[in-house]
Amino acid sequence: MPRKKVLAANWKMYKNPSQTRDFFRDFLPLISGNDRDEIVVCPPYVDLPTAIETAKGSNVAIGAQNLHWEKEGAFTGEISAAMLLDVGCTHVIIGHSERRQHFGESDDVGNVKLKAALEAGLTPIVCVGEVLEEREAGLTEDVLRRQCTRAFYSISARKAGKLIVAYEPVWAIGTGKTATPQLASQAHLVVRGEAAKAFGKEFADNLRILYGGSVKPENAKSLMAEEEIDGALVGGASLDPKSFAAIVKY
Ligand code: PEP
Repeated sequence: MPRKKVLAANWKMYKNPSQTRDFFRDFLPLISGNDRDEIVVCPPYVDLPTAIETAKGSNVAIGAQNLHWEKEGAFTGEISAAMLLDVGCTHVIIGHSERRQHFGESDDVGNVKLKAALEAGLTPIVCVGEVLEEREAGLTEDVLRRQCTRAFYSISARKAGKLIVAYEPVWAIGTGKTATPQLASQAHLVVRGEAAKAFGKEFADNLRILYGGSVKPENAKSLMAEEEIDGALVGGASLDPKSFAAIVKY
């Protein structure tokens, strides 16, 4: 059975609640009835209640961009999986390269966050991907293997059920440079191979692996045509309702 694709928006630190309301007012009519794929929007934390309320009854799921691995506690400024669930989130992005780069998040932190998300019943979107120097040094496969092995460490196939992975080459994020569909497919095969080692072949065959990195309405179709590419994680181009709708309708 073909894997259902996922088109996910990562708004990063853009939009306030009223801009979130405006986005959904314009976006929802553009994609109404479009149930071919799954659609997820991940706004900043403060926009979550507005996004959830405004998208209610539509085919758009709402996710967060991060979470803390503990259920609660003295962790000033953090948000737990239980809190996200309670507010109505269904998805959460884990280990985005901007979190790795600016907030020192390691592969091991990604692993505990992944465990917390799965335990709570959220659908995690785990990001992996190499930086330019690693690609140029021929290290892409090694980096992806390491990131996946550590992210998946000590998680059973039964628990991993809802896992989604996003392959996001860091050199393609927000740069306008996109991996070719073939190059992305090669990386996805490495990720799928690691998923097979960690969770078994059947799990790996069903795992959705998204591509992220300067996805735009102009390149979405050719990326989505690849058998190995099960959707997209979209940053910049997801902020505009028309542009994200065009990507959803690739
Ligand atoms: C991202 O933030 O995950 C991303 C892929 O950004 P962009 O689409 O802007 O490259």
